Amino acid sequence: MRSIANPVSADTLLYGDIPFRTEMLSDVPLMFLQSMKNLPLLLLLGSSLGFASIGATPSPRQDLHYRFDLHDPSHLHVTLEFTTPPSGDDLLLLPSQWAGERDLYRAVSNLRTSSPDATLAPTPNPARWIVHNRRPGRITVAYDLTQDWSGPLKYPLEHRIILGPGLFEFNGNNGLVAPILSANEAVDVTFDFINLPPSQTLITSFGTTPHQHVTGPWSDIRNALFTGGDLQTDTLTVAGSPVLLAIHGKWSFSPAQIAPGIGNILETERRLWHDTAIPFYAIVISPYDDSSSGGGGSGFTNIFNLFLADRKTFNTDTASLVAHEAFHHWNPRALGTVEDTAEIAWFGEGFTRFYQDTILERAGIIGEAEYLTRLNATIKDYLASPRLNAPNLELARTQPIAQTGSPSGSNPNLTAASSPAALGALNLAATRGSFSSSPPDPRSDLPANQQPYLRGAMIALWLNHQINQQTGGRHTLTDLMLDLETERSQPLTTDRILGAAGRFVHPATVAQLRAFVLDGLTVPIDPGSLGDCVNFREKPFWTFDLGFDPASLHRSGIIGGVRKESSAWKAGVRDGEQLDGFSLWNGNAEREVTLTLREFGGRREQLAFYPRGKLLAVPQAEPIPNCAAGPRIPE
Ligand SMILES: [Zn+2]
Repeated sequence: MRSIANPVSADTLLYGDIPFRTEMLSDVPLMFLQSMKNLPLLLLLGSSLGFASIGATPSPRQDLHYRFDLHDPSHLHVTLEFTTPPSGDDLLLLPSQWAGERDLYRAVSNLRTSSPDATLAPTPNPARWIVHNRRPGRITVAYDLTQDWSGPLKYPLEHRIILGPGLFEFNGNNGLVAPILSANEAVDVTFDFINLPPSQTLITSFGTTPHQHVTGPWSDIRNALFTGGDLQTDTLTVAGSPVLLAIHGKWSFSPAQIAPGIGNILETERRLWHDTAIPFYAIVISPYDDSSSGGGGSGFTNIFNLFLADRKTFNTDTASLVAHEAFHHWNPRALGTVEDTAEIAWFGEGFTRFYQDTILERAGIIGEAEYLTRLNATIKDYLASPRLNAPNLELARTQPIAQTGSPSGSNPNLTAASSPAALGALNLAATRGSFSSSPPDPRSDLPANQQPYLRGAMIALWLNHQINQQTGGRHTLTDLMLDLETERSQPLTTDRILGAAGRFVHPATVAQLRAFVLDGLTVPIDPGSLGDCVNFREKPFWTFDLGFDPASLHRSGIIGGVRKESSAWKAGVRDGEQLDGFSLWNGNAEREVTLTLREFGGRREQLAFYPRGKLLAVPQAEPIPNCAAGPRIPE
């Protein structure tokens, strides 16, 4: 999912956005819309959900108090009160990077202190300020938050703060200024929201009331979402607990229409995790302004959001996205502190990718045939990926999520930002198409960004079968997931996950697992993975091959690295040509690529070709006719 930090003028951009879906395409209208059951519409405004305790932690060290003045929704005035250490010196961290977005401090202005004994001083790093308090104790700082982008809301702008008409949205990673805190440090935080227009709704990770008090690890605050505005809401009951569903904007469906399907997905997941008593949970769905942005979502503490371009159908892809984001509530968030989100993306994203469709099948939202279709698409995308065998560390370096989570390395200002929320960012769409001289965006290597999702999903399918076989059918992958949850006090690392797997399978199998995860060895498909009534038969597929250096698309727009004999070469594409625009379905060899080239004298020429590389034989699952047991979908 590439993105350009500084788009050039619209003139150079003939095809701004590329419709692209990483997930399986399905136009089956979801049964959500067929179910017109009207659940009672309960506004949670003013309800008793304002207090949320998020886990038992030792006595809080830092006590923070944020006040947000919502009187002018385009310009949030924020004050923060906290305690400086006995030395009186502290470091104040501004938002920096999250989900591949950079320079998030640009949304923060007028940072100042009103405490007479304190001073704030900038450092060469605009995301870090030095606090000096001559009388150590409480200090008050204030700042303003403004939206630092303009134009239509499209992917990936939702990862920066949104302060638009009828919708405000920011999170702990992109909107909170805070003293330096580590991810698992216990904090006591109060949030006050004042001057919210009476017609507007407030929803945060911790409730819907204007006064909220939270105790828990700092990571839960960093990964919190704060949103509101003109929202249609509905409350559904999931396994006895309330879930708030909020929709912003005009859609062809109401919250009440999609609530039963969403409730079904959440209930299936909560039962899988034996975790049904969740006092507060919310889902916020907002539209992209741009029709080609597809759909994307992020999982936060007690809440996830979706941004969708299609306002008409809530289809299977969207349901799958719901299942994915909701699953992040546990994987990885409930399994231990994540210190390096990118390093465990094969698990946090990949295993979630595996479960999202088994959940849909179990919830009755898709049937067995649809499950197999979706799995087949994953198998094909996995085996056809140019990054199929890339080592895990190499993939981790290219993950946008690597920009947020790592406490080590050259970004000490990220110490506090262990970010499972960023792990939640799954995007079904890529939007791009312009050129700049800014440094390469971490999202620019799309196959590398996607590989942990695909690899992890294939590993999960394989491991589930191994666990099943080696325990005589007594255990499944879900038992391993639940096992990890019981040890949530430990950090979640690849080593810990492999160690836990060792309790279910032979050491030799763990060694194989390690090679798939770390070295990128191709994960095999066990013929019996889906039971005796499913065959895997090889079918031919083209790999996606642009035929030239994909970096040409996002750096200068000068084409480079054209390989002779590639489809691009045969279509007439040559090194050194200036690209004015392009249109392609990334990763899809069955869709034509169109390049608009600028010739001398400013004339433009269009070239089109199929981005086909090698012809692969890919195993695809097929139900065996008249086989009584049917496919055995993993549970
Ligand atoms: Zn995810």
